[in-house]
Amino acid sequence: MPELPEVETICRSLAPKILGRKIVDIDIFWPPAVVSIPGRDFAELVMDREIISLDRRGKYLLIGLSRGLTMIIHFRMTGRMIYYPSRHAPEKHTHVVFRLNEGEVHYADTRKFGRIQLVPTAKAFKTPSLAKLGPEPLAEDFSFVQLGQCLSRKKSTIKSSLLDQRVIAGLGNIYVDEALFRAGIQPGRKTQSLKVSEIIKLYDAIVEVLSAGIKAEGTTFRDYRNAEGKKGLFQESLMVYGRGGLDCKVCGQKLLRQKIGGRTTVFCPQCQL
Ligand SMILES: [Zn+2]
Repeated sequence: MPELPEVETICRSLAPKILGRKIVDIDIFWPPAVVSIPGRDFAELVMDREIISLDRRGKYLLIGLSRGLTMIIHFRMTGRMIYYPSRHAPEKHTHVVFRLNEGEVHYADTRKFGRIQLVPTAKAFKTPSLAKLGPEPLAEDFSFVQLGQCLSRKKSTIKSSLLDQRVIAGLGNIYVDEALFRAGIQPGRKTQSLKVSEIIKLYDAIVEVLSAGIKAEGTTFRDYRNAEGKKGLFQESLMVYGRGGLDCKVCGQKLLRQKIGGRTTVFCPQCQL
């Protein structure tokens, strides 16, 4: 699933290609992929509008259109958005094609859980999906104090707390496991048991792992691609995610795999306390 670094990479790679372009035609091959303003036709509404902004909030991509509309894209498991400079035949799982006055953008999604929601720009951040999101971990004003406050309300495990988008926005299974490894904290610990020194380490680890993920242009296991169709590189730097049963890269112990809050979690029993 695209997490913060992957959506940020899609946003950065898509922006120079589509900003200032106009949507001149649209093909919707699988209508449930788009959610319009109630009672209005999606295709009719986006037609002839210019793309004026691209932003990310948590794992959501926001594409601002002229005359006050915004498309909120949630990629969920396997959604992807790829730009082609010229006409390109839709692939098997392409659900929507936006034809621009130059090039086109294909929205594809194998598992079909992703959505493109159209909302008035003025209300974009008030839509239920965005309104309940916790702070942005890479925002200038996000600090370990704020992280501690966000976590102090949680009674679950630290793994489940960090996956909760209302606590902190943008983290998923990959970057939570990686951040907890770098912070030396066992994912099954109760959130309330963390000491201030551990919250500080966790804060540093979250910022470090997300920044490194963005620098590597994301993590590709299967489906994730940036807007040019390229894979990310962060899978090569993973310490624990996807490495259950293999040796810890730091101490050599066998990494353990455990279900926590229904999610497969990998950690080192020696490096993480
Ligand atoms: Zn280890």
